[in-house]
Amino acid sequence: MSQHFLLSAAARSISLRSVLRMEEAEAWDVFQRIRWDSTGGKPVCPECGSLICYDVSRGSRPRYRCRDCRKDFTPTSGTLFASHKLPILVYLAAIILFVNAAKGISALQLGRDLDVSYKTAFVLCHKLREAMATETRGMIADGEVEVDGCHVGGYVKPANFKENRLDRRKAVNQNGKRRVVVAIRDRDGRTLTSVFKSEDEATGFIASRVAKGSTIHADEAAAWNALHARFEMKQINHQEAYSADGACTNMAESFFSRLRRAEEGQHHHISGAYLGGFKRSSQRPEEGGCDEDAEAAI
Ligand SMILES: [Zn+2]
Repeated sequence: MSQHFLLSAAARSISLRSVLRMEEAEAWDVFQRIRWDSTGGKPVCPECGSLICYDVSRGSRPRYRCRDCRKDFTPTSGTLFASHKLPILVYLAAIILFVNAAKGISALQLGRDLDVSYKTAFVLCHKLREAMATETRGMIADGEVEVDGCHVGGYVKPANFKENRLDRRKAVNQNGKRRVVVAIRDRDGRTLTSVFKSEDEATGFIASRVAKGSTIHADEAAAWNALHARFEMKQINHQEAYSADGACTNMAESFFSRLRRAEEGQHHHISGAYLGGFKRSSQRPEEGGCDEDAEAAI
């Protein structure tokens, strides 16, 4: 069996320990190498793409001027960190804490770790989620693809006294906030997700984001019947087996197991309406938000 990625040295390419030892100039260097990966950290004009830029820094913050369009820019221009206020070290540390938290991180926890306010940490977290979402924008899954749904939100708190409690299984006693996160997962690990009111509503999204001729692995939920006309389907009844006759949705399930742990262990509660902002590789990060009362308790 191959080694789990998180056990490998590749999962530790940059650590909190190394960042906290850095001087500001070194941190900028790292930021530049991440941003301008293709040129090895050499500045590229965000305006016109020119590679010939002069260093016009004053003080510790790098600043460049493009030879071709004469515009000035910094390593953060045009990124989520433009008009930043904190030292660049703090942002690098935030990125590391955020991406290393495989089961998610609450804004309050990040705020305590970095000594920044809850609001600052909250905005930073959502910026990072947005950055992750752009990675899968326009992604089309193909080959063997797993599809599954995971219901989140819509919790109705039971009344204190037993005689006042309602039957929460009945639709009339639910609050309508429950949503389903539908994940499309390639066998090479790329995951695409979106939020719907029900799995039935997700079939159009699936049809548009999975290449024709692909094989879709799914459970036996009736909603997926609509996909038969377009794809070869391998469906599996989870009451009988998790993997049988070549049909398996374990990779989609493993994505959801992380999502569930983030929901229960980190955020404690994610309201269905704000789910889009929390699930990783979300297609609609701009819908993001959070139930502040819930996070304030973590
Ligand atoms: Zn330029």
